[in-house]
Amino acid sequence: MEIIHISAECYPVAKAGGLGDVVGALPKYQNSLGHIAKVVMPMYRTKFLYENNFEVVHKGSFGLANYWFDYTIIKESGNITGFDLYLVDIYGLLDREKIYGYDDDSIRFTAFQVAVVDWISKWNHRPDIVHVHDHQAALIPFMMQHCYAYRHLSLVKTILTIHNAQYQGWMTWDKSNYIPHWDNWKSGLLEWENEINPLACGIKCAAKVSTVSPGYLEELRYDANGLEKLFEYEKGKCYGILNGIDTDVWNPEDDSYIEENFSVEDFQNKKAANKKVLCDHFNLDETKPLIVFIGRLVGEKAADLLPAAISDSIYNMEGKMNFLVLGSGEPSVEHQLQNLRSHFLGYYNSQIGYNEKLSHQMYAGADFLLMPSRVEPCGLNQMYAMRYGTIPIVRNTGGLKDTVKDFGDAGGYGICFDNATVWDICYSIHRAVELYEQRERIDEIRKFIMQIDNSWERSAEIYINLYNS
Ligand code: ADP
Repeated sequence: MEIIHISAECYPVAKAGGLGDVVGALPKYQNSLGHIAKVVMPMYRTKFLYENNFEVVHKGSFGLANYWFDYTIIKESGNITGFDLYLVDIYGLLDREKIYGYDDDSIRFTAFQVAVVDWISKWNHRPDIVHVHDHQAALIPFMMQHCYAYRHLSLVKTILTIHNAQYQGWMTWDKSNYIPHWDNWKSGLLEWENEINPLACGIKCAAKVSTVSPGYLEELRYDANGLEKLFEYEKGKCYGILNGIDTDVWNPEDDSYIEENFSVEDFQNKKAANKKVLCDHFNLDETKPLIVFIGRLVGEKAADLLPAAISDSIYNMEGKMNFLVLGSGEPSVEHQLQNLRSHFLGYYNSQIGYNEKLSHQMYAGADFLLMPSRVEPCGLNQMYAMRYGTIPIVRNTGGLKDTVKDFGDAGGYGICFDNATVWDICYSIHRAVELYEQRERIDEIRKFIMQIDNSWERSAEIYINLYNS
């Protein structure tokens, strides 16, 4: 089967979060099952672009609103990702340093989608499956079925995977001329609550829709940032498929980012060595339990609760633990987290920004990983943490609920709580500190979580079954 993944992110080319990790891994595992999976994404000005070799495979052009755009498709020539990787270059629109966050993101990602469909429409053959990811690619099923220029692609089956339904790509109707001429009778497919809503359009038009965990699919029926009724109506074609983790990239046995590699056989001393390096660097005390947070500092991740939860825990438990935070996001949260450092020297530290290497070092060196998320479609951090023997402290929501069981329950191995409140977080931290004191128990749990199989093999197969259906 030939599968074309279309996405705004793909690790290691450009990544802002879990979407990049998934699109960088799933195709590799699909290829190993004997299929041909390829990835198409925008060409940003990232390090990857300058460090690798590319060849031009297609040049084309299209009109969008009152402009005419030339595009070029380039292919990475060394097969270093484990799948065919194509980048779409649209001069002046996509070739920027950041992935998102520009005022003209609507036109950038609509143009990206038009270029991809235009290119595929010129092929001499048809792919079996076009697999689009999140709202930045979710207009493609509509374009393939209802835009006059591309209707000959209408029999190609499409699938939309929703990694995060909070972001939907809303556009006002005056931007409708970004989309190539379409059958006006079908305008309703583009719309949700008086706006063009690319994610809603993808849910309506794709042959199948998947979310990145079964728990998240359930939650979307009553909390989907305005799309609840649509999920209820389309539930017959929606599936929850848990993400896996790329065990080639996230492997404590040969991770080149970490100080000491370790396995389930020798993790005790070697994990401690990783902790020591981290604590020395951030002026923390390696003898205390180290609790870390890694992620986007936004409301979805309940990052706004971190400053109070960290201060209250340090005060109320007389500094029996240390905290380290890595992330970036809302300026007010970043500011509070930076300010906290001077209050809690030696107990707390933070690094604001995106740092892939440090994230690996933190998964390896920490004792606990905190994820108090209000919304967590799947969550990869908790799975990475477990592979590195770090115990997750998570709120019972979405994919966290599907992947972590409380150690107080039979067969459990994590710390779970119900409410995204400072009180619940502090109580869970209290439980973590008590658990840390039981050395034998904690080593047993570490040994167990390092061996949990969260790899992509199983999920990659489930996607293939979905394509076949
Ligand atoms: P989301 O996609 O909602 O941000 P996920 O848990 O699915 O959350 O994926 C987050 C991914 O992004 C993980 O690989 C995590 O390690 C990484 N990540 C998030 N923030 C940072 C950061 N500041 N520095 C390095 N890696 C980060």
